[in-house]
Amino acid sequence: MDGRIDFDVVVVGGGIVGLASAYKIMLSHPDIRIGVLEKEGKLAAHQTGHNSGVIHSGLYYAPGSTKAQTCIQGRRELVAFAKKHRIPCEICGKIIVATRQNELANLERIHQNAVESNIEGVEEIGPDEIKEIEPFCQGIAGLRVSCAGIIDFTKVAEKLGDLVGKKGNGNQVLTSHQVIGFDKHDFYTRVVTNQGAFAAKYIINCAGLQCDRVARLDSVAPKMKIVPFRGDYYELTEKAKEKVKALIYPVPDPALPFLGIHFTRTIDGRVECGPNAVFSFKREGYGKTDFNWADTWDALSYPGLWRMFFKYWRYGLGEYARAFSRKLFLRQLQRLVPSLQDDDIKPCKTGVRAQALEASGRLIDDFRIERQRNSIHVLNAPSPAATASLAIGDRIKQIATEYFKLGE
Ligand SMILES: Cc1cc2nc3c(=O)[nH]c(=O)nc-3n(C[C@H](O)[C@H](O)[C@H](O)COP(=O)(O)OP(=O)(O)OC[C@H]3O[C@@H](n4cnc5c(N)ncnc54)[C@H](O)[C@@H]3O)c2cc1C
Repeated sequence: MDGRIDFDVVVVGGGIVGLASAYKIMLSHPDIRIGVLEKEGKLAAHQTGHNSGVIHSGLYYAPGSTKAQTCIQGRRELVAFAKKHRIPCEICGKIIVATRQNELANLERIHQNAVESNIEGVEEIGPDEIKEIEPFCQGIAGLRVSCAGIIDFTKVAEKLGDLVGKKGNGNQVLTSHQVIGFDKHDFYTRVVTNQGAFAAKYIINCAGLQCDRVARLDSVAPKMKIVPFRGDYYELTEKAKEKVKALIYPVPDPALPFLGIHFTRTIDGRVECGPNAVFSFKREGYGKTDFNWADTWDALSYPGLWRMFFKYWRYGLGEYARAFSRKLFLRQLQRLVPSLQDDDIKPCKTGVRAQALEASGRLIDDFRIERQRNSIHVLNAPSPAATASLAIGDRIKQIATEYFKLGE
């Protein structure tokens, strides 16, 4: 290295959070050079390309939390971005449906969140209105959320990558570049990849399922570990897909960061059902029996994992059973759409969520972004981070502008 700086900012990770951050920094600081380094051969290869494709409204999250604020702001920006760049997106609305008396208090709590967070177009509905909106769905009470929608997040990520990479001022979006180390120097960091090294003034870690490991490469000892949760989806067959018009969700368990198995009409007209949430023995493993020694040892040697298992063993066993039993998965779906039969569903995709876990066994609920002297680490960006990505990008840009003195 000859003292030349390749990039002012290197973003590690070409998922939607890394790309949105690069995009927002580019808009505010058009003269600086940004490099996005993605280890896979394409962008959006992990969480961003394996999710439900739902534009969330923001009502699940505690009012005032980063999740709630960025989801609401990010949703509005995302819809405007999709419109501007002609990315197919539909605000089809969704319903959240209670099927049992003991879910009503949680349904009310979610409604209160919507009121306190000022989320537009949320109204209480009864069994008749549920049937009017979704004729095959059955429930005792619900919420209609008219600002929720659907989109293909891979297309959003690709467009963001395009805009950043084509800026023409030295920006580069490089796939097949895995970051394997950082050599720290006084005024720059040598970012070492499997295809050579780059000198960068600042680092932004948006590595999703690998973010804690990338943080450790930067000598940060994060007070959390990423635990991968696999989510399997089924899809309604051609004949059955008329049973779902848009989005049907159950009332989630407030103790867990997952929304429960739901029905999602996708932007290309299919209907997916899922995902469940089972601990995965491989961080980027999409098969039911995928296994990786390093990932498994890393997880099992962490006391937080055992504390979490102990806390949620009943829920975990149920999810495991559903992962391997089509019959149990179907039974869960039938709680919302009772007429569904075994030949109405077929297995479809799988996704793996990056969920940050504290050593105490607490699943970290809110987004977590930490700053070092010349680096920013996104250490928890689970759902709804795809919806919220442009707003998260804004926050990261603000932190970078303030602490890195970008543009000076
Ligand atoms: C099953 C599932 C359903 C979901 N549903 C929704 C939904 O409907 N709506 C919603 O808003 N959100 C949803 N989410 C959440 C959303 O998809 C994620 O929060 C979001 O995609 C996170 O984006 P990211 O960029 O942080 O992570 P990722 O998309 O995982 O990107 C991280 C990138 O970093 C790369 N990387 C890792 N290590 C390195 C390295 N050393 N060097 C270079 N690159 C590296 C990875 O290859 C990867 O491409 C869902 C998630 C899952 C898994």
